[in-house]
Amino acid sequence: MPRIRSRFLLIFALCGGWLSVSAVLTAAGWLSAKFSSILLAATLACIVCGLGVTLSFLTLKRQWLGPIRRLTEHVRLEHDFGNTGRSLPVDLHSRDDEIGLLGRQLQKLIEELRNHNAALLEQTLNDPLTGLGNRRMLEHRLNMIVPLSRRLHCTVSAMMIDVDHFKAFNDNYGHPAGDACLVEIAGVLRDTFRRETDVVVRLGGEEFLVLLINTGEEEALALADAMRGMIQALGLPHAFSPVAPVVTVSVGVVTSPNGILVNIDDMITYADQALYDCKAHGRNRVAARLVGGPTSDTESRSSSISSR
Ligand code: GH3
Ligand code: MG
Ligand code: MG
Repeated sequence: MPRIRSRFLLIFALCGGWLSVSAVLTAAGWLSAKFSSILLAATLACIVCGLGVTLSFLTLKRQWLGPIRRLTEHVRLEHDFGNTGRSLPVDLHSRDDEIGLLGRQLQKLIEELRNHNAALLEQTLNDPLTGLGNRRMLEHRLNMIVPLSRRLHCTVSAMMIDVDHFKAFNDNYGHPAGDACLVEIAGVLRDTFRRETDVVVRLGGEEFLVLLINTGEEEALALADAMRGMIQALGLPHAFSPVAPVVTVSVGVVTSPNGILVNIDDMITYADQALYDCKAHGRNRVAARLVGGPTSDTESRSSSISSR
């Protein structure tokens, strides 16, 4: 806009200067009166044309170029920052011309892409059998949870859950029945760990992992044992398990107490070790380990909660 104004002023200055010069030349008798009036008419015509062109350009800019630029910016933000959730500015959306039409079509395309991306993300982060998160979801959530728990120095607990004698279940009842059993177990996990910050994933096979922030050892143990009891209470028959006549799980719990930096790989290793303790001591139980000290030493805890 300032550029147009300065060009406009320049044209005026040139025309004004030329008019002054021709007036001086006419007064000095160097130009005939007729030639001078032709020059005057030509100069005025130039001014009128210049004004016309400038006004047309300003109108074009206000009506078309500006909105196109804003539309381009809208698409650029969506492209650069992903799903911004921004909608098309109202004045562009309600325009009854080609720009409005273009804007609405672009917005439709953007929303389709957003939905498509959300569906793809959902597919890549979820386990198709149980609908729980998968390993990738765990990594995705860890990227948020680990720095948060470090900054807030809050307690983090992890649980590794494994179905007891699941091979015998599959071998005797068949793979589809095994799948249905995993879905039922996933349902209990989903019902038990409902906080927004709880992470519940199926790591693979018949193994699940739960990550709870701001949850101390006692609370994690109580939750784990309640969940174990609920799975047993489902009463899914397992006549081939030496542990119980129904499907049971073993749970390894590890807690990283307040102020201790969380190394998630260590947490998973310790939870795995606690799970191994459960298996070694008869299954259908919960065992806990505590991550202690900044060097992540583990202090073995004899806090196995009994079974059955
Ligand atoms: P443990 O009590 O020591 O955990 O014994 P287990 O039999 O549960 O453990 P093992 O690792 O020997 O067997 C796991 C079985 O899980 C093997 C396989 O038949 C079954 N399995 C793994 N993934 C799936 C799956 O996606 N669907 C079904 N139905 N079964 C699966
Ligand atoms: Mg296993
Ligand atoms: Mg198992």
